[in-house]
Amino acid sequence: MPDAPFRIMHMDLDSGRGKVLEFGDPAEVLGGSGLAAALFEEYGDPEGSWDDPRQPLIFVAGPLTGCYPLMSKTVCAFLSPYHNQYAESHAGGRLALALRFAGLHGLMITGRAKRLSCLTVGTRRIDIYDVDYLRGKDVFGAGKLLRRISRRSMSGHRTILRIGPAGENGSAMACINVDSYRHFGRLGSGAIMGAKNLKAVIIEGDGDLDLPGGKDYNSLYKELFGQLTTTDMMRKYHDLGTPSNLIPLNELKALPWRNLQATTDPGVEGISGEVFAEQLLLRQTACSGCPVGCIHIGLLRQQFAKEHEYLYKQVNYDYESVFAEGTMLGLTKASDVLALLDETEKQGLDVMGAGVALAWATEALDTGLISEEETLVPLAFGEVNGYVQAVAHMGNKSNDFYAALSMGTPAAVAQYGGGDFACVLGQEMAGYATGEVFFAAQTLGFRHSHLDTGAYSYDQKVKEKDAQKAIDFLVKDDVDRIQLTSMVSCLFARSAYSQERLQEALAAVGMTATADNLLESAKKVQRMRWRLKCRSGFDPINAKIPKRFTEITTWKGSIDPEYMEQVRMGYAQAIVAMAAMDEEPETES
Ligand code: SF4
Repeated sequence: MPDAPFRIMHMDLDSGRGKVLEFGDPAEVLGGSGLAAALFEEYGDPEGSWDDPRQPLIFVAGPLTGCYPLMSKTVCAFLSPYHNQYAESHAGGRLALALRFAGLHGLMITGRAKRLSCLTVGTRRIDIYDVDYLRGKDVFGAGKLLRRISRRSMSGHRTILRIGPAGENGSAMACINVDSYRHFGRLGSGAIMGAKNLKAVIIEGDGDLDLPGGKDYNSLYKELFGQLTTTDMMRKYHDLGTPSNLIPLNELKALPWRNLQATTDPGVEGISGEVFAEQLLLRQTACSGCPVGCIHIGLLRQQFAKEHEYLYKQVNYDYESVFAEGTMLGLTKASDVLALLDETEKQGLDVMGAGVALAWATEALDTGLISEEETLVPLAFGEVNGYVQAVAHMGNKSNDFYAALSMGTPAAVAQYGGGDFACVLGQEMAGYATGEVFFAAQTLGFRHSHLDTGAYSYDQKVKEKDAQKAIDFLVKDDVDRIQLTSMVSCLFARSAYSQERLQEALAAVGMTATADNLLESAKKVQRMRWRLKCRSGFDPINAKIPKRFTEITTWKGSIDPEYMEQVRMGYAQAIVAMAAMDEEPETES
């Protein structure tokens, strides 16, 4: 496997034609995050509008996909309907491996289908099916019918991406569901599929994937596999899964409750990872190429499954979803959380965005900023029924209020006020009220994700308030993670894949130039991504952290707004400098 260019299927829905591009030097763009940004620079318009059909929707794997354990993720890149900025979202499932078994590293879609369609890509065929009969179908109903369309392909190497009503309705919180239990969740990628008139994309991995072989590769693979499966490194992800974090974060006063009105609550006893595991856990599953299996599936019993008395449903839960549609809404019963997650999944909405937005709506209702005329149903912390109905209203944009809310909490704040208590850090917050560095980091983070940097852990480990030290940490951690998201590894495996390990892994598959250039190219990718984000309108210098984040108490005591602002401004300046670094100087004509 030499350092050959990537194979990208470019599908143009306007003409109905697809062609394979040989694109990018891996030693320069690496793959994943770097490859996606390079493709967007070439084919997208960061200054254009997100819903212009000519804008590309990009899905890319990495150079190590399928070669090593947990190299299982795919990067999706697009111009976001949330803020019209260049965005990335990451998902597992079978997509990355299906692309590689289809002989591809990525799929880039431009144009708009004439009717609501399903695009199918395999090694020998590309088809666009008219699926207008799926219009308005929820994610589960659509999934059942789509599996029939692709019945002849091997299910192990086939992936199905689909959207629900939220994506068809252009919601900025619409996700793309990947193989039922994984998602391109944040920043509205589902609306891009909707804008392209695509209900679904099916990749049929109907070819072969030759593994590199050789002594170095075999022994490195064995070593990594052993490390990931027989040591404690990944145990917590498999056993209780990420919900094991609920009790420790609650004890640390870092778990957001009721729209971040509190950071700890005894009610955690009802929705801890332990309670889910004892009472509701049905099974665990894994992304393709992952021996860990952190995906926890709970059983939603008949009293919540309204459709049929004897029906039960399988619902995926993890830490972030239990925070956003549990603690943030004051729900303290695990089965209530599963019921709400189930409805959110049906609508094809991002669970984190929807939960945090509804927490804002609850406080807005409580303080009289809005009334039930807007919310249509009573919303009160701890009451699941109102939330289940409200999520359906968001997916369907039932009235002006839900139409605004489903474009993101800032869109609703612009119309109704309440910005002081909107828990938005670039987008709806992640479940870590750990302190100043995390709040600044999520506000400015590339994906506004808790996984952009390890700021939540920095807050827990570093007591001193040295803003420059925190800024240096954020810039370095960003580039460290870009190496992983370019390969594209699951970030849960970051302890196994240090920079040196990634270089060994690349060299063992014959990609020596990429291995040698890894750090320098990752820094280049870092600059390219910030350049794209800033060109598309991101203004880090003027990004705001809402007042609510200054009002809380964590294990360290009250938030120090001055320190938080120093970190925010310093990191913002570093981002602006990185974005400007490789720009051509303007010359006078
Ligand atoms: S650890 Fe979990 S998310 Fe990561 S690759 Fe494995 S199953 Fe997927």
